Amino acid sequence: MKGTINVQAENIFPIIKKFLYSDHEIFLRELVSNAVDATSKVKALSRLGEMKDEVGNTTIEIKINKDKGTLHISDKGIGMTAEEVEKYLNQVAFSGASEFLSQYEGKVDDAGIIGHFGLGFYSAFMVSKKVEVITKSWKDEEAVKWTCDGSPEFSITKSKKKTRGTEIILHIDEESIEFLEDGRVEGILNKYCKFLPVEIKFGTKTIQEDDPKGEKDENDAVKQVEKEVDNIINNPNPAWKKAPSDLKGEDYSSFYHELYPMTFEEPLFNIHINVDYPFNLTGILYFPKLAKHKVELQKNKIQLYSNQVFITDSVENVVPEFLTLLHGVIDSPDIPLNVSRSYLQSDANVKKISGHITKKVADKLAEMFKNDREDFEVKWPDMQVFMDYGLLTDEKFYERIQPSYLVKNTKGEFKTFEEYKEFIKESQTDKDENLVILYTNDAEGQHSLISKATAKGYDVLEMNTPLTAHLIQHLEMKMEKVQFKRVDADALEKLVPKEDAIESNLSDDQKNELTPIIQKVISSDGFNVQFEALDEADAPMMVTESEFMRRMKEQAEIGGGMMGMSNMPDSYNMVVNSNHPLISKILVESDEGKKADMAKQASDLALLSKGILRGEKLTAFIERSVSMI
Ligand code: ADP
Repeated sequence: MKGTINVQAENIFPIIKKFLYSDHEIFLRELVSNAVDATSKVKALSRLGEMKDEVGNTTIEIKINKDKGTLHISDKGIGMTAEEVEKYLNQVAFSGASEFLSQYEGKVDDAGIIGHFGLGFYSAFMVSKKVEVITKSWKDEEAVKWTCDGSPEFSITKSKKKTRGTEIILHIDEESIEFLEDGRVEGILNKYCKFLPVEIKFGTKTIQEDDPKGEKDENDAVKQVEKEVDNIINNPNPAWKKAPSDLKGEDYSSFYHELYPMTFEEPLFNIHINVDYPFNLTGILYFPKLAKHKVELQKNKIQLYSNQVFITDSVENVVPEFLTLLHGVIDSPDIPLNVSRSYLQSDANVKKISGHITKKVADKLAEMFKNDREDFEVKWPDMQVFMDYGLLTDEKFYERIQPSYLVKNTKGEFKTFEEYKEFIKESQTDKDENLVILYTNDAEGQHSLISKATAKGYDVLEMNTPLTAHLIQHLEMKMEKVQFKRVDADALEKLVPKEDAIESNLSDDQKNELTPIIQKVISSDGFNVQFEALDEADAPMMVTESEFMRRMKEQAEIGGGMMGMSNMPDSYNMVVNSNHPLISKILVESDEGKKADMAKQASDLALLSKGILRGEKLTAFIERSVSMI
């Protein structure tokens, strides 16, 4: 029998052939998915008692015939009767394909389509000059062969096929010969079909020398033999589809390595997701050890599947961005696949799914905190970047996770915010009832400041993730009457200003007399001179950097939206302790040279303890010190 495919739009095949050039490989995913569907249907018929025959072996086979230039996909599924071939391949599949194309006409280059589902069977024509379908239905009917060379004409003839199922034979066209390469085909199968629910066998031919033991003499011609190796290339029963109660720790770990064969590190912990109402969502998310890595390295690790068919590994439109730091698998047939990325984000189902994943992750973290705080503290350094990212970007996540967010002080003690606020309330509440949280980003470099603060009874937090600057800004906004100040932001007395301010030993006149002298010795550094009445035991001079200015600069540097400010200069202050005996000594010194030397020495010491006295200035300081001794 011959016939013509009912074409409204003249001929869609040239369009299919050109469609999404770079994504031609998806034809194989489409055809293997169809084979899986046909197999699932046969199993269902048997279960329901509709089909009396044995289901038997259902392995899907994929073979390359290089001599004939064909690629074969065979299943033992329900097959099709002649009538069904006519209906499904000529009408349903065709109308599906043309509908899909008309929907995306002109948008073919728009990288907005993820998945490209819906093209289905006709995607075979992206890579073939001729397609044959030999199929025998599970119903007691003769097998048929459908042939189409890419024009709207097709033919249906009888076939001798005796066994149930469908074989699709693609006569690969000249531009697509890559799909006759074992390695290429295996690569595609490995990408899209690795976890399909029916066993898939790929026959590869390897050339082997028939002298594996090297027994033959060098002069003997070593004969090469072709050996066919059939490999089941998929795992039809991946861990995320199993019940969490059936899995042990090592099962999760081995599945992790199955997903990422090139990664040797163990994940910190995992979250198994298993929902079937009001949407269908399964998956396992793994929490990687983040401490050693840069944030950028970690993205694009989550793989999105739809009914075990791989769709994409860029899920940033499906889950909130901070979750893309995680690894693992999300599988949901309820995520629409053939829509643009921007549409995806506003899709109601996607929103629900994304909200659910966020909640699951937050709940898991809260539960870990509650059940084993000690272990949670051990894992904390590897989780912190993730926590910071989530806290900053997701309001709901913030609310859920804030009670288990930990801060660590310089003594290595972990506390929640609530515990910490209570802990420092007494000593670090300033005269305006603000709670001042002191922190360091460099416990080594700011050692002298930290030990002074601790001696005064203050506590200092270690905060130094790439997101610290943003985080503290956010926390100040969220928590009432709480201020964060880095230990070098001001003189110790000024960090937590109290009512009983210390009197200054110097009068304003005396300060005015000293200012130009100090200004002169530090002139090359562009600092502001600022007198403060501090404790006698404090340093005579110290360098501070205003909390506000420094944060502006840091945020600009890590792209906090303050465009054009990334080259902001440092804004240091030279704080002069008007109560320090050395400052009074400089004031009364009559020798002008000595006066300047003393001022210079004191200001250099301030630079030194800040770690910014370098090069020529450091050399001069050392020489001056030696001669002074
Ligand atoms: P979809 O799979 O989205 O329905 P396709 O264009 O891929 O669209 O296929 C159209 C129809 O052809 C399918 O719905 C199915 O009924 C039939 N079909 C395709 N491949 C097979 C197969 N290997 N075995 C049995 N039926 C098939």
